[in-house]
Amino acid sequence: MRAKQDIQKLVIIGSGPAAYSAAIYSARANLNPIVFEGFMSGPIGGQLMTTTEVENFPGFPGSILGPKLMENMKEQAKKFGSICLMEDAMQVDFSKEPFVVQGSKSKFLTHTVIIATGANAKRLDIIGANEGEFWQKGVTACAICDGAAPIFRDKELYVIGGGDSAVEEAVFLTKYGKKVYIVHRRDELRASKIMAARALDHPKVEILWNSEIIEILGDKVVTKVVLKNNKTNTKETRDAAGVFFAIGHSPNTSFLNNQIELYPNGYIKVEKGTTNTSIPGIFAAGDVQDYTYRQAITAAGSGCMAALDTEKYLVEKGYLY
Ligand code: NAP
Repeated sequence: MRAKQDIQKLVIIGSGPAAYSAAIYSARANLNPIVFEGFMSGPIGGQLMTTTEVENFPGFPGSILGPKLMENMKEQAKKFGSICLMEDAMQVDFSKEPFVVQGSKSKFLTHTVIIATGANAKRLDIIGANEGEFWQKGVTACAICDGAAPIFRDKELYVIGGGDSAVEEAVFLTKYGKKVYIVHRRDELRASKIMAARALDHPKVEILWNSEIIEILGDKVVTKVVLKNNKTNTKETRDAAGVFFAIGHSPNTSFLNNQIELYPNGYIKVEKGTTNTSIPGIFAAGDVQDYTYRQAITAAGSGCMAALDTEKYLVEKGYLY
């Protein structure tokens, strides 16, 4: 059976490495993907749009700026015929096929959907931490992306959080910083025992219990933090070159309105080793279904998987000829 003219073969929702990789692969397979890149929902290009140098994406030994990497991915997706729309997907109807994706301007019926809307690192509204202050000038939400920057070398670094991410990022940062402090609001880590031990046993990591950073100070980049002990209410100003938020991520799934199965933490559930969601024909790729790895390269890899899974599904359903 041929795909009807007014029913798309594939709609992709998102514009990060997962979405554009899915678009590149599916466009090359003649699936003519429509890509809802977003508009009000966050920067087109996703989380890499808020980073500077990307040094760990294979193929760029001299590093590449996050926004440039995303511009290249988009160009490559468009080169093979992806239709990129600067629009948010506002609503979806996955109750029956063809599925419906309703954007802020357009509406499409489609045989398949790849959800690649990503996740956003949570941030705190601390004085000095925002855009126009020291955000990306020592304040970041991704130690693994930004930790190797020269401004952090042999300096005091502060990681906020008490979960596995905070521990992992703190231990990672010991490669670069003189000393790494984990600033945790309670007197007990949320991190798993094995991860917690890594922080507690590490000679370059110290945990500041019952503590919060209430202000970030600096000139061109971060130079100091003001810490508050929330039990004693004492305040102290310390030297600092970096503040890293590691307080969790929020997957962007609210527009799905609970139509597909999610994990209790809100991430989309996929069948192990595939990008299949709980609804046949709906696939998920990138950070929206990955709370473990969360790297641009793993997102891109799963975008490729989603495109291949989609093509297989369309062939099996007889929509491709
Ligand atoms: P998480 O487990 O939700 O921990 C978030 C931490 O941030 C908690 O300690 C929390 O404090 C703190 N926090 C949250 N909001 C805060 C606020 N407003 N002010 C100050 N602190 C705040 O998130 P995660 O560490 O990113 O981990 C997410 C998932 O990924 C977990 O399932 C984790 O096991 C997994 N993960 C696994 C690995 C690994 O195994 N290698 C690595 C990273 C992540 P409270 O404890 O007081 O709530």
